[in-house]
Amino acid sequence: MVVGDISTGTELLVIGGGPGGYAAAIRAGQLGLDVTLVEADAYGGTCLNEGCIPSKALIHASGLAHAVEHAESMGIHARADVDLRGLVAWKDGIVDRLTGGVERLCEASGVNLIEGRAEFVDGNTARVAHGGEGQGSESVEFERAVVATGSRPVELPGFEVDGERILDSSDALSLEALPESLCVVGGGYIGMELSTAFAKLGADVTVVEALDDVLPGYGDDATAIVRDRAEELGIEFRRGEAAQGWAEAGDGARVTTETGAGETNSYTAERVLVAVGREPAADTCNLEAVGIEPSEDGSIETDDATRTAAEGVHAVGDVTGEPMLAHAAYREGRVAAEVAAGEPARLDHRAIPAAVFTDPEIGTVGLDAEGAEAEGFDPVVGEMPMGSSGRALTLGAETGFVRIVADAETGFVLGARIVGPDASELIAEVGLAIEMGARLGDIAGTVHVHPTLSEAVAEAAANAQGTALHTPNR
Ligand SMILES: Cc1cc2nc3c(=O)[nH]c(=O)nc-3n(C[C@H](O)[C@H](O)[C@H](O)COP(=O)(O)OP(=O)(O)OC[C@H]3O[C@@H](n4cnc5c(N)ncnc54)[C@H](O)[C@@H]3O)c2cc1C
Repeated sequence: MVVGDISTGTELLVIGGGPGGYAAAIRAGQLGLDVTLVEADAYGGTCLNEGCIPSKALIHASGLAHAVEHAESMGIHARADVDLRGLVAWKDGIVDRLTGGVERLCEASGVNLIEGRAEFVDGNTARVAHGGEGQGSESVEFERAVVATGSRPVELPGFEVDGERILDSSDALSLEALPESLCVVGGGYIGMELSTAFAKLGADVTVVEALDDVLPGYGDDATAIVRDRAEELGIEFRRGEAAQGWAEAGDGARVTTETGAGETNSYTAERVLVAVGREPAADTCNLEAVGIEPSEDGSIETDDATRTAAEGVHAVGDVTGEPMLAHAAYREGRVAAEVAAGEPARLDHRAIPAAVFTDPEIGTVGLDAEGAEAEGFDPVVGEMPMGSSGRALTLGAETGFVRIVADAETGFVLGARIVGPDASELIAEVGLAIEMGARLGDIAGTVHVHPTLSEAVAEAAANAQGTALHTPNR
């Protein structure tokens, strides 16, 4: 021990206070374990401070401003003057409220909170360096540990983030003034969500994507709907072009790109947002000391009980790789705590949904028809277009569909893809169906409130059975 060091003991040490870590800590506290949670930066992690919550606040506010200005068909003629500082202050208030809530919830469950960076020293000891000069460090003896150190943005060579010309998603969520033009490098979900928000606020947005299309993995038809709408909003897409570098060009950055065929192009924008994905942060807590070696993609491998190669050490959330989603991290944190407390908890990845908060939204869960076939099912598919939903029409949002996949023989629900307003909310019904082993008839036979978007989920299930009332049956 270093002279002047203090030493404490705990049954469960949790490293990282994001969704994975704080869920593990709170649940372990509920189960009666003595828990210590160490956070190096801000409680709530990426999700609450610079991810899910702030981005959804920006997306909602930009959608509101845009909707107000584009409601002539409803007889509404209005102008929205957006004060970005005011918007960001509102967003910061939400973040403060939620991050403060995480601290209070942890304390209410008896979790000891330590602010600092934790590193393993050996299989039962970690050292926590407190932030700032002269703040000292302390040792924590632990019986079991949960690594929940999260992820960070992937760096793109030639695009060093400076917070001025070249931004990462965190910078983009805290701008003081709206850029006149924005070049977004990367058309994954973060790039597409932020592009949509900035286009709705009035920026000229260009999306540069190296692949043939944006939003890989969400289905060609869903992607095409979102891309078409984005183009209507004025977003320009440069697909199949890899960003190579940038140079100052007067009052902007000139971004150069190269196509697969070797053709070069350039686009000038006031700011450039780099959103080319995130990578696990498995190098922040000296994993070697407990004998964990990250795999090739930098993530920590775990089993379905969140156990790692090191006895008594669990890993949860983004540091374990895809799906890098907050709700997956929450679930894994909960399972880690329960397993650490000796309960028979397990992860079931079949019903982990995903959502993209674009316009319209995309929600997915479980298998699509091809995936179901690949797993040996004989799939039956039911669909309800949003254009046939009375509620969607009253919202002025008739583009999209609900598609449900089930096993033809048994009717067991296997998955869904939803494109449309509130798809991120609607997908939960199908997630529940998969989780509880429900059949098409359970969804179709449940009376849904009229007029709601959720009726479209029931109609899609009925369509798969040949009994839909509001769309032709297949
Ligand atoms: C712009 C953006 C939008 C997003 N939107 C969504 C969304 O809509 N829905 C969704 O599900 N997901 C979304 N995500 C992803 C989501 O934020 C992550 O999946 C989630 O935060 C992962 O949680 P985690 O606990 O694994 O890690 P994190 O939230 O990254 O937390 C890890 C924590 O560990 C701390 N830490 C790291 N090393 C140490 C150490 N050695 N000692 C102490 N502390 C340490 C870090 O400071 C951090 O606070 C978004 C991400 C971004 C960037």
